[in-house]
Amino acid sequence: MRIGDPGQHLITIASRPDTVFVEGHGSWLIDEGGKRYLDLVQGWAVNSLGHSPPLVAQALAAQSKRLLNPGPAYFNRPMLDLAQRLVEVSCFDRVFLASSGAEANEGAVKLARRWGSRMRGGAHEIIGFEHGFHGRTLAMMSASGKPGWSELYPPMPAGFAKARLNDIASVERAVTPRSVAVMIEFVQGEAGVNLADPGFVRELRALTRERQLLLIADEVQTGIGRCGHAFAYETFDVEPDVMTLAKGIGGGVPLAALLCKERFNCFEPGDQGGTYCGNPLMAAVGLAVVNEVCREEFLEGVRRRAERLAGGLQAVVRDHGLSGERGAGLLRALVLPADRADRVVEAARALQPVGLLLNAPRPNLLRLMPALTITDAEVDEALRLLRAALAQALGPGRR
Ligand SMILES: *Cc1c(COP(=O)(O)O)cnc(C)c1O
Repeated sequence: MRIGDPGQHLITIASRPDTVFVEGHGSWLIDEGGKRYLDLVQGWAVNSLGHSPPLVAQALAAQSKRLLNPGPAYFNRPMLDLAQRLVEVSCFDRVFLASSGAEANEGAVKLARRWGSRMRGGAHEIIGFEHGFHGRTLAMMSASGKPGWSELYPPMPAGFAKARLNDIASVERAVTPRSVAVMIEFVQGEAGVNLADPGFVRELRALTRERQLLLIADEVQTGIGRCGHAFAYETFDVEPDVMTLAKGIGGGVPLAALLCKERFNCFEPGDQGGTYCGNPLMAAVGLAVVNEVCREEFLEGVRRRAERLAGGLQAVVRDHGLSGERGAGLLRALVLPADRADRVVEAARALQPVGLLLNAPRPNLLRLMPALTITDAEVDEALRLLRAALAQALGPGRR
């Protein structure tokens, strides 16, 4: 224990800076000392409309005065309205609401196994991808491809194979008669914004169809406008059989969803549930967020702002001699020529008078996931602060 450590009464789970945040508005966070930070992390891409958006505050206030939670054994209006809205804006027919991405993904695996036990003679294995990330429950740690995770809490749940992203032969090799589904992030977020190739995704869709495997799209990070479209699968011109959402759909509150086509709607009553599943307080927020984000004008705005950010980052790459920039929509990464990402993150946070919040999912890589509502002026300000942080951590750029 460190003297003066603000986290002295918390179970240690991460090395956090001493900064304590007290307020957030739009793209800005404010700490206890009153310092402002331009936030390109946004709670790990959860605050799709920025910090404390009025839309979310209003939905929470209104619903909290009407009905908090009649329990999952009964219908409630926001639960039904959100499910209907999600079906309208996607290619899916059925929705199960949950509270976290891991929980939605667990539900997807259960649904696939249920379908496998009914239709495929007990097939149950799920094929995931190296470096994939699906959450932190024990089974989702098995499903994820994070190096070291399969050894962290032994014994780990079995039945999860791994293939390599953009390598269809590796998927074919992983398929056995017991395989029931392939689970994929079209953009691997935690791994460092690794993009699936359109050709690979089309081949994967054809292969999964041919072998009677469910294609499960984990759109926890990519869904609800993050990549410039309501869902990332739209940009690949394929329809998954099952999709999971979390993060952005709640606009900052804990909300997740599992969606499937009608023919995979195979749970019997009692097979799946959870105390907070479909609670009206979170569903009301989700409905407000989906109504706002999944409008064509809003999505066009996201694509325009993403272009501005990507263009600015490309200039930063040139001027600071970085290794590259990539991403989809407002989920972007900057690749550094050395393992200095943590130093850049620290330098950015420490900038005066305003700081910049960045995320470093890999030692040589920065991830940017601003609010979908970030303004052009804020994009420009973020790029200016980023240049200052890079100059401090890596040495001066060319300009
Ligand atoms: C964050 C994330 C998860 C886990 O979501 P939680 O809400 O933290 O459980 C799952 N899949 C992907 C792709 C994610 O980015």
